[in-house]
Amino acid sequence: LSAEEQELVETIDEEDVDFLRLQFTDILGTVKNVSIPASQAEKAFAEGIYFDGSSIEGFVRIQESDMRLKPDPESFAVLPWRDTESGSAARLICDVMNTATGEPFVGDPRYVLKRAIDRAEEMGYTLNAGPEPEFFVFEKDEHGRATTTTHDVGGYFDLAPKDLASDLRRQIIYNLEEMAFEVEASHHEVAEGQHEIDFKYDDALTTADNIATFRSVVRATAEKNDLHATFMPKPIAHINGSGMHTHLSLFDNGENVFHDADDEFNLSDTAKSFLAGVLEHAPAITAICNPTVNSYKRLVPGYEAPVYVAWSDVNRSALVRKPAARVPAASRIELRSPDPSCNPYLALAVMLQAGLDGIEKGLEAPDPVRENIYEFDEAKREEYGIDTLPSNLGEAVAALEEDEVIQEALGDHVCEKFVQAKTQEFGEYVADVSQWELDRYLEAF
Ligand code: GLU
Ligand code: MG
Ligand code: MG
Repeated sequence: LSAEEQELVETIDEEDVDFLRLQFTDILGTVKNVSIPASQAEKAFAEGIYFDGSSIEGFVRIQESDMRLKPDPESFAVLPWRDTESGSAARLICDVMNTATGEPFVGDPRYVLKRAIDRAEEMGYTLNAGPEPEFFVFEKDEHGRATTTTHDVGGYFDLAPKDLASDLRRQIIYNLEEMAFEVEASHHEVAEGQHEIDFKYDDALTTADNIATFRSVVRATAEKNDLHATFMPKPIAHINGSGMHTHLSLFDNGENVFHDADDEFNLSDTAKSFLAGVLEHAPAITAICNPTVNSYKRLVPGYEAPVYVAWSDVNRSALVRKPAARVPAASRIELRSPDPSCNPYLALAVMLQAGLDGIEKGLEAPDPVRENIYEFDEAKREEYGIDTLPSNLGEAVAALEEDEVIQEALGDHVCEKFVQAKTQEFGEYVADVSQWELDRYLEAF
């Protein structure tokens, strides 16, 4: 064992942890875990834990199903909500290894992100990413099933008593802090029952791990209060959906290379090329950052979610915004399309690879659009050269199938499995007969 692993084995013993949950994510972003008694920690570090990859979505075929989990000692965290009479549990995030070759498994989303990070490093950069995940909290019915009755009737930045969920948010924040999160702000969002909790930006891998952890903390804490928290992007039509704006900047040796004091927008040429890369690959990125049928119910005009491929330093109807920065280190761009149903590893990997492609090709960013683009008609959009994001999952997958840079970012294995799963999901949706259709047509014809 490495010194770090040895030390952790001792910590696990000292902190009286009873169970270790070894976690990883499947291609669709669902966290999977294998639980082992804490007494097995040493063995888990020394040999890894073997599991059958064929039963995990998008992993492998039956004939090549042996996979090994390699716990990342840096990811150790006690799960605050599992500290019960019957014992306590901690989690470790794992890399998935191919047993036959001993190499990282190409279908592991964490590995896809690590490859993107390596490429950035070769070019001299580290990505810092800060997400703003939004979510809804709903009541449960008498059978314990989630409803769409919101837990409160508060609105943007409302205070208690309207904002009933502030106690819940506080519990979530305490749990996050126990898991070493630095929570920066939390507030009631625009819609009833909708909230946002922002935590500090970090390097890309830590942020992806954090997003996965954040979702389980929020859901588990709501569950303890007999409520249902959801990261579904648009649970209720005609009101705001839940996004996960992502702030991005590149650093080189502790210096923010996105900052340029002499530029009108305080953005360097590197930042502008990165931004141009993100805009260029926006349609394919959408498939990964907005991966569900429901994601596209959010990406419609009028609810603070982006629809048009443009950037702006002032308005929020654009896909990319340049937030005001008080200090050079804070110069960054905000991608507003991602939603919290995405696989955070794949999402950050494609954002980063798209930006690096822009830098490598020396792409130039278009002029920012300062007007409200929601109010543009088609002619005006054409005049400004503004494209529209894919309007459904089918179009997004088609865009991915045309974008070789983003395909390469994912790697053949992940790309193929992702396209397969999403083509099927969209096909099922198209063939379904919805309540809207019945309401509209059943009696009309
Ligand atoms: N909920 C909005 C969205 O769907 C974002 C609101 C905000 O600006 O925070 O992206
Ligand atoms: Mg928000
Ligand atoms: Mg934002």
